[in-house]
Amino acid sequence: MIRFEDLLEKVRAYSPDADVELLRRAYVFSAFEHRGQVRHSGEPYLIHPLAVADFLADIKLDAVAIAAGLLHDVVEDTLTTIERIRELFGPEVAHVVEGVTKISAIPFSSSEARQAENFRKMLLAMVDDIRVIFVKLADRLHNMRTLNHLPEERRIKIAQETRDIYAPIANRLGMSKVKNELEELSFRYLEPQAYESLRMKVDAKRRRTEGFIEELKKTIAAKLADAQVPIIEIDGRIKRLWSISQKLKRQRIELEQVYDFIALRIITDSVKDSYATLGIIHQTWSPVPGRIKDFIAMPRPNGYQSLHTSVISEHGMPFEVQIRTMEMHRMAEEGIAAHWKYKEGRVGDQRDERYFQWMRQLLDMQQEVRDPQEFIQNLKVELYPEEVYTFTPKGLVKALPRGATAIDFAYAIHTDVGHQCVGARVNGKMVPLRTRLKNGDIVEIVTQTGHKPSRDWLNFVATSRARNKIKHLIHSEEKARAIELGQKLFDKEARRYDLNPKTLAGNDGWSRVLSDFGVQKDDDVFAAIGYGKVQPKQVLMKLVPPEKLHEKPPEGAVAAVVKRVLGTGEEKIKVRGFDDLMVFRARCCNPIRGEKIVGYITRGKGVSVHSATCPNVVNLLYDPERRIDVEWDKSPVGDAAARYTVKLTMEVEDRKGLLAAVSAKIADINTNIKNMEARTDDDKRARIDMTIEITDLKHLEKVIKAVRGVDGVLGVQRAGRAG
Ligand code: MN
Repeated sequence: MIRFEDLLEKVRAYSPDADVELLRRAYVFSAFEHRGQVRHSGEPYLIHPLAVADFLADIKLDAVAIAAGLLHDVVEDTLTTIERIRELFGPEVAHVVEGVTKISAIPFSSSEARQAENFRKMLLAMVDDIRVIFVKLADRLHNMRTLNHLPEERRIKIAQETRDIYAPIANRLGMSKVKNELEELSFRYLEPQAYESLRMKVDAKRRRTEGFIEELKKTIAAKLADAQVPIIEIDGRIKRLWSISQKLKRQRIELEQVYDFIALRIITDSVKDSYATLGIIHQTWSPVPGRIKDFIAMPRPNGYQSLHTSVISEHGMPFEVQIRTMEMHRMAEEGIAAHWKYKEGRVGDQRDERYFQWMRQLLDMQQEVRDPQEFIQNLKVELYPEEVYTFTPKGLVKALPRGATAIDFAYAIHTDVGHQCVGARVNGKMVPLRTRLKNGDIVEIVTQTGHKPSRDWLNFVATSRARNKIKHLIHSEEKARAIELGQKLFDKEARRYDLNPKTLAGNDGWSRVLSDFGVQKDDDVFAAIGYGKVQPKQVLMKLVPPEKLHEKPPEGAVAAVVKRVLGTGEEKIKVRGFDDLMVFRARCCNPIRGEKIVGYITRGKGVSVHSATCPNVVNLLYDPERRIDVEWDKSPVGDAAARYTVKLTMEVEDRKGLLAAVSAKIADINTNIKNMEARTDDDKRARIDMTIEITDLKHLEKVIKAVRGVDGVLGVQRAGRAG
């Protein structure tokens, strides 16, 4: 077991100015909060945070990170709040602890490859301080090392998560030592039989090769000494089981055929010596063609640099040799964690450019920072600034571009979910559809069969998928309306000349109409009329010789009556001078029976009816020729009465029973409440949003008056309307 005093000593050795007081307080606090808790092994819980802190000291992190390591489970596993941590240990430690706690709360559920990749990206995108990842990796490493104490089911879950998420993250950060150990342990727990059988085979082979490795090391040392190439270290080892097993599987070979079963590692003083060493190795043994890799000139994406070659010994035994400098070696083992140490005294080193291509921008910003402590503190992980990662309620990850909304999320699930989306719950709370999603949001989409997307959505969706789907549907709907309207306008025009539209559309001239207008189908002709591109008379003139077109005498000034059923309510609106035109209530103001209304002929959508007080009327009606007089048809009675949904917003005092009083009052006047939502503002005030069904303006006024009369109601407004 690690002793705290040993930990302190370790930290002091590489950071004499470290805030020892902070560490001591964190240790005491952690010990106190975790008192009485035991791990599955039966040991006191405190062993775990101590081990985590010790690992962080091994990679020489700062006091903040180590304190966070000591405290990393306190918020999750005890009653301590993050605010308390902030009070006691300051914002930085609290920030790291909070980040680690958040990551633990992510509902990881599937190991499907793409899913796992998204999880990894999300983890990295979620943390804005790299120390969070270091603590989390240290935490995972210790848990994996002590995994045998857990019940099998949890063992497998944790090992799978480690293989899918944490080992690749360590790899991505260039921390190969951690990655290797995590992979090896995952292998052991996920495939115990395969692991054990391979281990036995490798052990047997190891016993046969141990003397051989020593012999090779001696030979190399002698050859290099002869050539006067100084080296720091030669290390011989047998490949890790996981990487051997991968190799066997990938290349479908037997253990005997693995070229790099044995790997020698030579650490040199300089790049020049590395290449010199490679030359001497190749003079001593025959290289295997195609196995020489120069990762010094061409580093791996995670920054790894080394020379690799495979050669065949005089006994016919192949082995791999890796050659690199000490700095490269540290980078290879510790990756990003080594980087800030490595920067010490070497600020602005040219090779920085080659490490971590994906962090280049970040490093550029850090060029000025001379203090490694400061460097790590400012090192913000912004690896995926362009994406957000969100979840379905079942834990599937949806990666979306930054700025994506609930609508984008809905379309990412399925086109129909998008089209029929009427609401969204984010982390359990209803939110407006235009809400921008954040990393880690759990999003639930509420759909309603038959619901259609609104053009308004185009103003805020962020994905081209959603945009295209919405546009496509709107266009096809508009086209359907245009066809309907065009057909009606054509029929009306035909009757004006006392012609039968039915027979006209079938006669010989019709195919000429199609070719003249360059369209394929009848509907295209009507759509062109409906969109206002073609006058109905233009079509008529192609079907009937002009001399036969005689206008019928006007039928008198009788206004035709329009009965058009739309949506759920029967909205009867007269349009003067027109038969059977499509009429719909504008969504912006949703006029209700009894209000003063004005009509406007839209392109392809029929006549939109606005409330005369609608602010859009001023803007929309700039074209007076498209303005049309409309009025409400005579009132229907009883069950046939139209019902209009109206949204009310009320400001009320925040006190008990008020919501009940308001709804009782509304129910009193025989009014149906479709939806009601209350939320508390500051200052003891609350807002109630309510959707009710009313029959006409008088009814609405009655409701508003009644609600105003309730004690504690400060104001009532019809939502989305001025005044
Ligand atoms: Mn832990």
